[in-house]
Amino acid sequence: MGGYSRVTCRWTYLNAFDLGTLPAVRATDHEEPSPVPVHAKNASGAEQQKFVYDFSEGNKDLKDLLGGKGANLAEMTNLGLPVPPGFTITTEACKVYLESGSEPAPLRDEVSTHLAALEERMGKKLGQADDPLLVSVRSGAKFSMPGMMDTVLNIGLSDESVHGLAAQAGDERFAWDSYRRLIQMFGKTVLGVDGDLFEEALEEAKKVRGAATDVDLCADDLRQLVEQFKGIVAKQTGRDFPQDPREQMDLAVRAVFDSWNGDRAKLYRRQERIPHDLGTAVNVCSMVFGNLGPDSGTGVAFTRDPASGQQGVYGDYLQNAQGEDVVAGIRNTVPLAELEKLDKASYDQLMQIMETLETHYKDLCDIEFTIERGKLWMLQTRVGKRTAAAAFRIATQLVDQGLIDEAEALQRVNGAQLAQLMFPRFDVDAKAEQIGWGIAASPGAAVGKAVFDSYTAIKWSRSGEKVILIRRETNPDDLDGMIAAEGILTSRGGKTSHAAVVARGMGKTCVCGAEELEVDTKRRRMTAPGGLVIEEGDVVSIDGSSGKVYKGEVPVVPSPVVEYFEGRMHAGAEDADELVKAVHRIMAYADRVRRLRVRANADNAEDASRARRFGAQGIGLCRTEHMFLGERREMVERLILADTKEERDKALQGLLPLQKGDFVELFESMDGLPVTVRLLDPPLHEFLPDITELSVRVALAESRRDANENDLRLLQAVHRLHEQNPMLGLRGVRLGLVIPGLFTMQVRAIAEAAAERKNANGDPRAEIMIPLVGTVQELEIVREEAEQVIAEVEREYGVELKLSLGTMIELPRAALTAAQIAESADFFSFGTNDLTQTVWGFSRDDVEASFFTAYLEKGIFGVSPFETIDKDGVGSLVRDAAAAGRATRPDLKLGVCGEHGGDPESVHFFHEAGLDYVSCSPFRIPVARLEAGRAAARGTR
Ligand code: ADP
Ligand code: MG
Ligand code: MG
Repeated sequence: MGGYSRVTCRWTYLNAFDLGTLPAVRATDHEEPSPVPVHAKNASGAEQQKFVYDFSEGNKDLKDLLGGKGANLAEMTNLGLPVPPGFTITTEACKVYLESGSEPAPLRDEVSTHLAALEERMGKKLGQADDPLLVSVRSGAKFSMPGMMDTVLNIGLSDESVHGLAAQAGDERFAWDSYRRLIQMFGKTVLGVDGDLFEEALEEAKKVRGAATDVDLCADDLRQLVEQFKGIVAKQTGRDFPQDPREQMDLAVRAVFDSWNGDRAKLYRRQERIPHDLGTAVNVCSMVFGNLGPDSGTGVAFTRDPASGQQGVYGDYLQNAQGEDVVAGIRNTVPLAELEKLDKASYDQLMQIMETLETHYKDLCDIEFTIERGKLWMLQTRVGKRTAAAAFRIATQLVDQGLIDEAEALQRVNGAQLAQLMFPRFDVDAKAEQIGWGIAASPGAAVGKAVFDSYTAIKWSRSGEKVILIRRETNPDDLDGMIAAEGILTSRGGKTSHAAVVARGMGKTCVCGAEELEVDTKRRRMTAPGGLVIEEGDVVSIDGSSGKVYKGEVPVVPSPVVEYFEGRMHAGAEDADELVKAVHRIMAYADRVRRLRVRANADNAEDASRARRFGAQGIGLCRTEHMFLGERREMVERLILADTKEERDKALQGLLPLQKGDFVELFESMDGLPVTVRLLDPPLHEFLPDITELSVRVALAESRRDANENDLRLLQAVHRLHEQNPMLGLRGVRLGLVIPGLFTMQVRAIAEAAAERKNANGDPRAEIMIPLVGTVQELEIVREEAEQVIAEVEREYGVELKLSLGTMIELPRAALTAAQIAESADFFSFGTNDLTQTVWGFSRDDVEASFFTAYLEKGIFGVSPFETIDKDGVGSLVRDAAAAGRATRPDLKLGVCGEHGGDPESVHFFHEAGLDYVSCSPFRIPVARLEAGRAAARGTR
């Protein structure tokens, strides 16, 4: 790969892969409301809706009406930049067309008026035989959307006007090249002819001529190609290519309207929650020509580096080319800096314009431009996409330049970007052999031996090997293999494929849809382009953040951002990483403004300490069941098997000091901060041996007539406790109510631990949380018992504990009766994982691997409701329960302890619902802090 194509690669890379697959903020996020559509007076002076706007009549805030492209073309026009004149047909016109099936009645005349003005200005008529005005017809919705109609260039050319164009330009070849492009683009996008037919004819022509690229074809070749193309159109559509320029234009406009309801566009909107009734605008723009010889060309540029944020010259330029040629990779582009040598005047002007745009938009912009015989034209601009690292750096750079304030800087980054920066990554300096590239489906850097089936994945991982599971695509049968693997690689499927969805749910690294890798599961091997073969057992490395696949082991380096959060790297240090400095500043802004507090879900002192380093302001969920595992399991078994009160009490007495010890450590590491301890939640059989294993063991023993008494009793218990739907069975507060002494033992452990810490001059702030409450009566009983125990402990230790007692809200009934439940609760903590399961009536483990893929593909979910809170359903229960609880008890503390507490979009929802805190896994705390800050700052900017 030469020096030239590096920049090209970065450009295509940014557009096609990285940015498209970033867990970006939803398209619908952060949009400022646009002013209402303007109305115009018609001939008789009456107010009438206006459907067409000259570029000089719009501005960048009219995106609702003019679409993103149109609004920005207008903005550039009004900034005095060289934009080829043109006009925009509004989204309102499109809406009328979509609703009624035909264009609004006044549209034709309005277009005629604007076209006439354009013709007058340009001094030539659309398609005029001796000197044709040509235009492009470009779609442009409010949000840029895949699936919308591709731009058609050179509209206005015909068998007649092609000669006029040739004469005017003094260039036959150019005229025929433009005409063949028109028929090709128009045929494909407007008339729906299979584009390959044109491509094949073009290839054939090049072959006959011995031409390496399209520029090597001469005027005659192109003239012949035009004849062929017209033949293709006639044959495929049963009609001739339209020769009337106005008909060409009208058909193209209508095709843009129709493309709004294309399948791909509809699916994208459903997934991104973009309303279906926005409609698209259409831009009609007079043509400028980059294909008029070596002093012409077309290019793309960023106002600063979208990968690092650094200011400089970033872009690609292609001489003697039109439109998409520069990004289509048909010929080698040159780095933008080369333009200075080719055409200094245009280059200088372009640099000037880029500066104007940055200062005006107060952000990184990307642009498209064309040079026609030494004259520069601007064809598009918009606020440009960027990598996560660049987003943080650019935001702080813009603050330093005085272009934006801190509140605005917070809107320029997001939690998904921060999360991306926190994954370990492959060492960029390491020599690694890249063998393929897929979709970055679930971030992280994973290394392991290639395996091609789940069985091997499980077997090898059990014997301590790290494996990467490679499949063409995965299905529910692969679940265990996916769990066993370090990472998952597939050659088929997109971001919503089974592999992608399940891997994200498990937080496992995944690259999917690496199509150039040929996976042969039967022969247990994979072939890369060029014939390189990866056999079972060969080591591969996959990067779930970039989608890259490497042969061999690539060294992994920790994220500097995590090093910073861990306190191992200081943002103040002179040589600190620029990114770390930027993250540090942005986090400080967020912490300064946020209202939501952020706690951690942590079960032990080690997690608690890390959480504290990451900025946790307490523990929102400590699960006590984790304290019953390991060697303590046997004591739990004894508790379950106890026949008498004595036996049971003995088992509980054995557990008490162990639990207490755990809590002492936990309260110490979170000294001065609240710690919410949840009493035992899972069903008891989870602590017993597996039913099948035990049955087999007992049966074998019986056949040998040496059945063990304890095993028999265990098996009985396992049968007694077995449940069809454990999620909905004997668990949570139900356990506490049917197993005497269990909850009181736990409460005593908490209270004694707190008392001990107090007596050691500590500041323990324990909160006791009762899980799975459905009715206030349950809570009342547990509360009464707990208060007695606490009072006893206070007397024994001679301290006042001030423990608070609250409940999880994780059943619909609890949410619906929140007003009553609040009478007995000091706090609510919304358990949104279980609440999502119980509201939807499906269990996460059972459904994520089975039908979620189909639901995501059909657009029923934009994202799994376990990832982002379902605002309309689960969310509305949360909002209402919070309000009802507070009505009963104004000082009721409200929090969230489900996984959603660390999800960016959900954090915004909880902020708006008025909760006091969110709690999430330690690693997601920085994300929650940032998003809480963004949510609070949004109202203030
Ligand atoms: P997209 O939305 O895919 O970027 P555009 O409408 O920007 O589509 O157009 C596709 C290509 O055609 C771009 O390179 C653009 O610069 C070029 N183009 C569009 N209109 C004109 C025009 N009037 N003259 C010259 N080139 C144009
Ligand atoms: Mg464009
Ligand atoms: Mg729960």
